[in-house]
Amino acid sequence: MSLLPDTDNFYPFPPKPARLTADEKQAYRDNIRRLLRERDAVMVAHYYTDPEIQALAEETGGCVADSLEMARFGSAHSASTLLVAGVRFMGETAKILSPEKTILMPTLQAECSLDLGCPIEAFDAFCASHPDRTVVVYANTSAAVKARADWVVTSSIAVELIEHLDSLGEKILWAPDRHLGRYVQQQTGADVLCWQGACIVHDEFKTQALRQMKALYPQAAVLVHPESPQAVVDLADAVGSTSQLIQAAKTLPHSHMIVATDRGIFYKMQQAVPEKILLEAPTAGEGATCRSCAHCPWMAMNGLQAIAQSLQQGGEAHEVDVADELRQRALTPLNRMLSFAADLKLNVKGNA
Ligand code: SF4
Repeated sequence: MSLLPDTDNFYPFPPKPARLTADEKQAYRDNIRRLLRERDAVMVAHYYTDPEIQALAEETGGCVADSLEMARFGSAHSASTLLVAGVRFMGETAKILSPEKTILMPTLQAECSLDLGCPIEAFDAFCASHPDRTVVVYANTSAAVKARADWVVTSSIAVELIEHLDSLGEKILWAPDRHLGRYVQQQTGADVLCWQGACIVHDEFKTQALRQMKALYPQAAVLVHPESPQAVVDLADAVGSTSQLIQAAKTLPHSHMIVATDRGIFYKMQQAVPEKILLEAPTAGEGATCRSCAHCPWMAMNGLQAIAQSLQQGGEAHEVDVADELRQRALTPLNRMLSFAADLKLNVKGNA
């Protein structure tokens, strides 16, 4: 029997947040600003949250970033409470790195298909059947899966880390994203055995329609996140993590960008390249399934109403907790990632 999960799992998607009027939005924003001050809290938001959430994080002195930078920012900030606008594993990571802080989330129901598709019991058995491999897990995993790993990694440093481990002669067990695992294997030539998880957003970008779009916009560059299928990656002018794609939009000379990642990234990308035209890469469309609209249904749960509620009420419905023993075990591979990322940054600066 295969230990790998059924990747065609159906996930129970959350309902879309209720639409608010302009006046309601303004009232929530004012309320959130006040509550952040009163609670000594700072907002840490992911690139895939809605633009109005990213704008609020920026205006209130918080950050908008990828999961690696969110983790760094949150642990370095002096606020006693972090309001993490993202999905659950991001809140857990914040708690693991900053146990002394209160970590609030707009909802603890914001999942991630990569996390859901890698349950600890099956993953533990998979690792146990390959004891000769170094276990590297993507940040999009539960605290329990991180605790089972030798290394945690984000997409922004995945190729460099696997290259490093390969240079030490290590064989890799990679989880959970199969597309990113295949991508790092191809980039590094390392021996990588992949868990077969997938991101429901990136898995849905369509090759044929992307080819047609490229023909329609010959002046456009195609930017692709490596969680996308191989055939989509093959059409890319740049492949990278969210922050790397924003950087690519700046450095590539093209006037138009076709972007194959969650459309939440458009907020920061457009700030970086105000003169360029950004286009969503084609999926099967909103009318197809909830999984096929270039926007993560769990990221969309981070609405203004839920943020105000979490700051007002706190408590079990919003506060992230990670048991101390589990936290200690998950901290080791996370710290390895952070110090590897810091060394990498130093080397890049040194070589610049
Ligand atoms: S976009 Fe994909 S990887 Fe990111 S949180 Fe949503 S399901 Fe997970």
